[in-house]
Amino acid sequence: MTGTTTAAEVDVAIVGGGLVGASLAVALGPLGLRVALVEGVAPEAASQPSFDDRTTALGNGTRRVFESLGLWATLAPQAAPIRRIHVSDAGRFGFARLEAAEHGIEAFGYVITNRVIGAALRERLATLPQLELRMPARVAAVETSGDASMLAVEPGRALRARLVVAADGAHSLVRSASGLGARVEDYGQVALVAHVRAAQPGDGTAYERFTPDGPIAVLPLHDGALGVVWTLAPAEADRVMALDDRSYLAALQQAVSWRAGRFLQVGRRNAYPLRLTRALETVAPRTVLVGNAAQGLHPVAGQGFNLGLRDAATLADVLAEHLGRGARDCGAPEVLQEFAARRRSDRDGVTRFTDGLVKLFGDGRPGFGVARDLGLLLFDLSPTAKAALSRISWGFAGRAPRLARGIGLGS
Ligand SMILES: Cc1cc2nc3c(=O)[nH]c(=O)nc-3n(C[C@H](O)[C@H](O)[C@H](O)COP(=O)(O)OP(=O)(O)OC[C@H]3O[C@@H](n4cnc5c(N)ncnc54)[C@H](O)[C@@H]3O)c2cc1C
Repeated sequence: MTGTTTAAEVDVAIVGGGLVGASLAVALGPLGLRVALVEGVAPEAASQPSFDDRTTALGNGTRRVFESLGLWATLAPQAAPIRRIHVSDAGRFGFARLEAAEHGIEAFGYVITNRVIGAALRERLATLPQLELRMPARVAAVETSGDASMLAVEPGRALRARLVVAADGAHSLVRSASGLGARVEDYGQVALVAHVRAAQPGDGTAYERFTPDGPIAVLPLHDGALGVVWTLAPAEADRVMALDDRSYLAALQQAVSWRAGRFLQVGRRNAYPLRLTRALETVAPRTVLVGNAAQGLHPVAGQGFNLGLRDAATLADVLAEHLGRGARDCGAPEVLQEFAARRRSDRDGVTRFTDGLVKLFGDGRPGFGVARDLGLLLFDLSPTAKAALSRISWGFAGRAPRLARGIGLGS
């Protein structure tokens, strides 16, 4: 690798400054480590892939992490609480309702635009004295040997890092460079995302409607508009993307029914092909995978970022404990093992739950629809099942990182 003699030395190099990588850099702020964050796209670029017009439903565990990081006060005014969830099966009789108040919580989650989260994260990154921010710059190659990894960065000096964090998304270069395999399953679905205005503003209800093509989510936004994630088969998605606004609104109205009100206006539409990408392992020598680099999920249950943030919060926790024991080497084998062990059950649980939901509601075999509807009705009648589901917003299983329990890492 060229330029290695002049490489900048860091404890942790984070590759990818999307939602998860940027959150990790903020979480590591109080630890006094030399951290470099390399992000390929400039912050103001319209094409920034992580901080785009998508809306993300932040669970209660995520809200707690952002509170611990001192970011929630900035985000809260632009976050719409989900106070109730309405689940239905298009063209069938089954439905279920969940009320946050019945579970003693203010909301199941908070819907916010990715761009808003991105702006808050980047504003904070600019204030971190020990962070070497390389943006826009791309990591072009990674080589690991013994006690460090060398990263070729274009443009700029190479980095020599004790620990490399792959936060570079589902097509992770770091994952491939470290020899970690991934299982990729194409769902044969495309999510069309748009903001829509209805005759009445949203009332805090999130609608999840399952159709033979895939789920449609209609989420409340802080300004009274609605965030729509409409999943379709690829050819149908192409057709709907090409519709003019009026025809799109009419088609959406038909797919969602009138429950969420009469749709009047739609903003820009974006399309995301959906795959399950799951790394076979989350660690390799000197390397940790977080966020979509570790697992890219279907958005049906709104879990991808929430899970990825718990990866970041757990890694920060493990490193804080490691430093607390007087150790310095952030890429030591015990750090990697501890991280992988603490993330296993949450990661497996959320991935299986999300994938299972896509397949259960996508199964068109005779008899499945009726069984599903009975399941939804039973679910609607069962406080225990509802309580179990409402707990997912706190994290799925395993030990919650300190940041998700409201404990700062600098204290
Ligand atoms: C339609 C849709 C709706 C969703 N809704 C929700 C939701 O409601 N709730 C939820 O929790 N999740 C949701 N998700 C999932 C969530 O968006 C992702 O989990 C999240 O974006 C993952 O963030 P990330 O930082 O891991 O990866 P990414 O967002 O993919 O970011 C990776 C970053 O790495 C950079 N990068 C890549 N390669 C390099 C390189 N070589 N060098 C430097 N930089 C590089 C990229 O520029 C990018 O900024 C949704 C996803 C979709 C598609």
